[in-house]
Amino acid sequence: MSKAPDAEAQESALDNAYSMSPTHVMRVLAARADGLTGEEARERLATHGPNRLPERRRKHPAMRFLAQFNNVLIYFLLAASLAAFALNHVIDGAVIVAVVFINAVIGFVQEGKAENALDAIRDMIAPHAFALRDGRRTKLAVADLVPGDIVLLEAGDKVPADLRIIEARAALVDEAVLTGESVPAHKSAEPVADAAALGDRASMLYSGTLMATGQARAVVVGTGGNTEIGRISALMGAVESLQTPLLRQINHFGTLFTYFALALSVLLFAFATLVRGYNAVDALMVVVSLAVGVVPEGLPAVITITLAIGVQRMAARHAIVRRLPAVETLGATSVICSDKTGTLTRNEMTARHLVTPGLAAVVEGAGYRPEGRVGDGFVAVAPLPQGETDLLLYCAALCNDAELVHTDGDWRVLGDPMEGALLALARKAGLTPDGLAAWKRQDTIPFDAEHRFMATLHAGPDAERWVFVKGAPERLLAMAAGADTARWEGEIADAASRGERVLGFAARPASAGETTLAMERLGEGLTFVGIVGLIDPPRDEAITAIADCRTAGITVKMITGDHKDTAAAIARQLHLADDPKAMTGAELDEVAEADLPSVARSVSVFARTNPEHKLRIVRALQSNGQVVAMTGDGVNDAPSLKQADVGVAMGRKGTEAAKEAAEMVLANDDFASIVAAVREGRTVYDNIRKVIAWTLPTNGGEVLAVVVALFIGATLPMSPAQILWINMILTITLGLVLAFEPPEPRVMDRPPRSADAPLLSPFLLWRICFVSLLFTLGVFFIFNWALWRGHGVDIARTMVVNQLVVMEIFYLFNVRYLHQGSISLRGILGTPVLLLALAAVTLAQFAFTYLPVMHALFASAPVPFADGTLILLVGIVLLLILEVEKVLIGKTGFGRE
Ligand code: ATP
Repeated sequence: MSKAPDAEAQESALDNAYSMSPTHVMRVLAARADGLTGEEARERLATHGPNRLPERRRKHPAMRFLAQFNNVLIYFLLAASLAAFALNHVIDGAVIVAVVFINAVIGFVQEGKAENALDAIRDMIAPHAFALRDGRRTKLAVADLVPGDIVLLEAGDKVPADLRIIEARAALVDEAVLTGESVPAHKSAEPVADAAALGDRASMLYSGTLMATGQARAVVVGTGGNTEIGRISALMGAVESLQTPLLRQINHFGTLFTYFALALSVLLFAFATLVRGYNAVDALMVVVSLAVGVVPEGLPAVITITLAIGVQRMAARHAIVRRLPAVETLGATSVICSDKTGTLTRNEMTARHLVTPGLAAVVEGAGYRPEGRVGDGFVAVAPLPQGETDLLLYCAALCNDAELVHTDGDWRVLGDPMEGALLALARKAGLTPDGLAAWKRQDTIPFDAEHRFMATLHAGPDAERWVFVKGAPERLLAMAAGADTARWEGEIADAASRGERVLGFAARPASAGETTLAMERLGEGLTFVGIVGLIDPPRDEAITAIADCRTAGITVKMITGDHKDTAAAIARQLHLADDPKAMTGAELDEVAEADLPSVARSVSVFARTNPEHKLRIVRALQSNGQVVAMTGDGVNDAPSLKQADVGVAMGRKGTEAAKEAAEMVLANDDFASIVAAVREGRTVYDNIRKVIAWTLPTNGGEVLAVVVALFIGATLPMSPAQILWINMILTITLGLVLAFEPPEPRVMDRPPRSADAPLLSPFLLWRICFVSLLFTLGVFFIFNWALWRGHGVDIARTMVVNQLVVMEIFYLFNVRYLHQGSISLRGILGTPVLLLALAAVTLAQFAFTYLPVMHALFASAPVPFADGTLILLVGIVLLLILEVEKVLIGKTGFGRE
């Protein structure tokens, strides 16, 4: 996008904003402390363009198409077609070229679709930022930021543009993406020297870096391509390639297979000419077509499609995969470690109990509607707090960043739901928004999961100044000297055992001259004023999903920052385990390293944990050989998300830092979506196995029949052109349908697959051999039957081609269910894709058998009706044999890997 000249001039004037004072920068940008107006922002957006990195240049479609041919399998096929043309076998050559071409088209189209799907999904997790607009803190799409916007950042946020700091508090920023420096850099508003290198420009925040701790307020100086990262953006935001370990394994396997086929072809050629006395040209054509038949050239494309469909299906269930390999790993997941609040529970909080030294009250009302009685109608004394209960309510309302809004008759929270519930409580007790507005906040220590409290300093009417602290009650009791700890511990245990989330409140008058809050001095003179118990019911979907996990052999663990008794009570409501054992982070610290794996296995609830505990738990579980999915939302969760086999970040309440570290993002923060993704992951893996289980014997069967004929010196049951025909027709039709298979009915009734199980399991190898053998028998039977009936070789061969295709079709029906019988209504009705493919193959085979032009091209001949019926019968017998085999194998347990 081209920019207006004044926009460019302004941008270059700010090249060294780091050495200017914030006021100077603001002046150049015509920015104000309370932010731009919506109108100004729109105008600036028009001049500067959206805050987006320049689109990575995509490969030209023609190049993408050509790339489809860049594969050993394809080279091999092209060489074969050249050989055919050179030997004057024009039809054979043309069919091979057709195979290659069709394959490339399918690969091209599907890859494009897959990439578009991934792009669309990536947009679903487009980042947001908070900026001041029209004087209000507003959530904006990062793309809408413009120079002059005032951005508010806190720990865990990704810096959305290049910013000049106006004010920073304990800000440490991870700039590794930009400078490679892994130690977070200190940031402050102080200008730095003109000559400072990028890593030393402490007064700047650069787009793409991560706020590790603290808070900052900063003005946007550069957006989009005009950021440091934009200048070096070639690497950044690169679309992830459609590669996964599995795909690589299959490509590698395909290559090996090709070499193997090549070597075998040479031997076969030698045998045919030297021992059997074939004419060299004929022998070569047979060998070439066999080799073409055996190479699974369609496999990589089909598997890419399978993965892409899996990603799309997961997205439809609100699980957004950021890294493709996660699709495979999800299917093997054996433990899910989940947060509690908002993931297993609804995160719709309501304050239910209030206990202070002078009052123990039940609070009426539901949701965030600020209506209902507190006890038998308690009302706080306004405008100044008198006594502990008033102080608790003021603390609840003021030490609070949320806002209650009333829209369409509905009360909603902007911000933390728990804080919303506290606002509703304060309003129920008579504190009005107007009365509260008279209390100006002078300083804040924000909540973080490490300290588990939040503190604010306020100046109220009459020059009253108070410090309010709210947080985990045991933390506050430790800070506030003189509290009746024993009594409060009893109250806390009571509320927690009901599954309520308990919050403590404390307050003290601010000391003279105290204008900022210092962590060390917070507790001096602090009085503990009481607790509030909040209910946050479990999500119904989570209860069902946990039950599903238990039948699927997946263990669920709750790892929460909440109180042990609260967590244990919720765990029981969720039926997390038969008798969920709970442990606190502090207790975990006492466990010896050697005992950790067994503790991690047996305990279901870890409470009052910090991010290091999470990391230790993942590692301990992994040392038990478990495949671990772990949820997280905070900036400090990044290490455990990375360590987990599948890191899962929360889309709504998660920080950018967590999303960045995760393999998957939950758009709705719902535990049930993880389980839905696991189900899809299992389906993808099943489908890949089905694709392989079907493709390889298909190739093996036709080849084995011809090779055996060659060896025993019998008439070949198919001509080279016919082998190629089968190969082409099946690749386009049936070869694709297994990618679209829905989950098998009992996909969540079996234990997770073992993570190191090879794709080509012993069962699959057995299957490939067994089915190839049956195909060979079928071919010989029908060929000799035809000759015995007195048909010529042309009819006999046409019957063989039809027989092979029919067997492929029946085998496909068998393979659709790896874990249960296929002869059921559901099994026979198939899927729309399957029926479409079936119609296409049938049509093609009728054309092959009855159209004169096909007779000329492929030396086929019309098959009498009775023989056609026999062909179908053989197919049915094959299906029956394979179904019996499935039952027998199922009994031995051999097939259950
Ligand atoms: P989970 O990890 O399952 O989401 P959680 O939400 O309970 O659990 P945290 O958000 O880390 O975990 O909260 C831990 C504790 O910190 C809470 O139990 C509560 O006591 C306290 N706390 C949470 N939010 C706030 C807040 N905004 N202000 C003060 N204290 C808070």
